[in-house]
Amino acid sequence: MPLIDYQKKRSFAKTLEPQGITQGTGKNIFVIHKHSASHLHYDLRLADKDTDGLWVLRSWAVPKEPPLEKGIKRLAVQVEDHPYEYKDFEGEIPAGEYGAGKVEIWDKGDLKITENEKNRLVFNLDGKKLKGEYVLVKFKGRDSKKKNWLFFKV
Ligand code: MN
Repeated sequence: MPLIDYQKKRSFAKTLEPQGITQGTGKNIFVIHKHSASHLHYDLRLADKDTDGLWVLRSWAVPKEPPLEKGIKRLAVQVEDHPYEYKDFEGEIPAGEYGAGKVEIWDKGDLKITENEKNRLVFNLDGKKLKGEYVLVKFKGRDSKKKNWLFFKV
């Protein structure tokens, strides 16, 4: 997904989130933002190259705390790719703006993607809270569910 989707949703005169105009090289990292928006959720972001070969953060909103152990499956709703620089963002998105509320880094660290298919990602996380092998699998089924994935530790 191009960053235009990200940019269209935001007014950069009002929010301090990065605009994503400069896209340089990236590293294999992940970050999870704790986002106290109208509904508290966690944003899982994996650094990866988009279809143009540019580094972005592929992003999923996880409504419950990400799984620290095996046996817990979480819904992860894919959202628009975020700029790579978003990995360092923390702050308050102003009231009335898209995603209004406090954004904090909940975990971050190295990422190693070992399987990267359209409907399935397998990756290793080396964060403070999340460590080990994780899987994201896209739900099959009706169109209305096409952004829904399952996120779990293996
Ligand atoms: Mn969010």
